Amino acid sequence: MSGIRTLDDLLGEGVSGRRVLVRADLNVPLDKQTGEITDDGRIRAVLPTLKALVDAGAKVVVCSHLGRPKGAPDPQFSLRPVAGRLGELLGAPVHFAEDTVGDSARSTVEALADGQVALLENLRFNKGETSKDDAERGAFADQLAAFGDAYVDDAFGAVHRKHASVYDVPARLPHVAGRLVLREVEVLSRLTSEPDRPYVVVLGGSKVSDKLAVIEALLPTVDRLLIGGGMCFTFLKAQGHEVGTSLLEKDMVDTCRNLMEREPGKIMLPVDVVAATAFAPDAEHEVFRADGIPSHRVGLDIGPETVAGFAAALKTSACGDPGNARTIFWNGPMGVFEMPAFANGTRGVAEAIAESDAFSVVGGGDSAAAIRVLGLDESSFGHISTGGGASLEYLEGKTLPGIAALEN
Ligand code: ADP
Ligand code: MG
Repeated sequence: MSGIRTLDDLLGEGVSGRRVLVRADLNVPLDKQTGEITDDGRIRAVLPTLKALVDAGAKVVVCSHLGRPKGAPDPQFSLRPVAGRLGELLGAPVHFAEDTVGDSARSTVEALADGQVALLENLRFNKGETSKDDAERGAFADQLAAFGDAYVDDAFGAVHRKHASVYDVPARLPHVAGRLVLREVEVLSRLTSEPDRPYVVVLGGSKVSDKLAVIEALLPTVDRLLIGGGMCFTFLKAQGHEVGTSLLEKDMVDTCRNLMEREPGKIMLPVDVVAATAFAPDAEHEVFRADGIPSHRVGLDIGPETVAGFAAALKTSACGDPGNARTIFWNGPMGVFEMPAFANGTRGVAEAIAESDAFSVVGGGDSAAAIRVLGLDESSFGHISTGGGASLEYLEGKTLPGIAALEN
């Protein structure tokens, strides 16, 4: 974050009566039937920035995307319910604009008094937001920038996107990083620059191909890499084991073998797995040795002996045994945790991380959801990132367009 100005710098200049455009990540999950917000974590995460601006007397104009509308208004992706929830959490009404940069947005912003908050309609109702064409994105950014005298980026979940609201608007306004973006980057930079050792990374989730770049980037720097989830089967196959009908990326087998040969002993794979007769919540299932998965079975979780081994590699013992982790990064569930029968691996590993004294960071939408769904205490983790893709791309060492734009 070298050279990036922060919210405190902006507050120090005085924002009373100034219009401050805040890019937030209010992309919350909605119940498909009722449209209700099922997890308001991302709304809560931006409150510190918004409250500071309100208290300082700014006219606060918030913008965000929600879901993946196709560049045109689509009522199922309206931010209106989010405006309601945000108002409840702020303890003051949030003025909602029916469009993003049209007449409603203009009159809503003009009517704001000092210390009031407006929320614009979904950014992605406009083609310019995600356009690959610089001119089209720029034209939309011009319209957005007209609503602010300064710009705050607090949308960590979107900083890896080259979108108008995160990449082009900061080129048009004085710009700073909000509290959430600052915290996320501080935490992740602790993982990339001299982490306390041993540094243990746990990776799971569905596909090796999704996570290959992060494995490549992390392998040289970590002390241990524990692999579970659907992606462990491609590694087991690379070890010469049969994996039945488990998730397998055939074209990745050679790559996985190569990774294991590159750093012998660093990668730890399951020694047992829970395999079922079908990919279903009520399917019959048993624990098998990782080298003895029957041909007609599908592996849906890591087994109990694996959980114990992973936990041992993660835990810090009471006497501070130096063999145990001081820094942990976890991304990707260990099994199909959405089905209770296959949630034990994810629960066991999450509990071991929660009990550890190590500095622990959880990245990934499904991993964060697993912590909440399994009823684990969020405060026993060092940091739960609000950005899945953004946190992985940061650890891969990629340039994040939204961060680069703040640096300029
Ligand atoms: P995150 O969002 O935390 O980065 P991913 O999106 O990579 O995680 O992966 C999450 C998904 O991986 C979950 O929906 C989970 O059901 C799935 N998964 C985990 N283990 C398996 C498995 N053995 N077979 C198939 N899918 C799995
Ligand atoms: Mg996911």
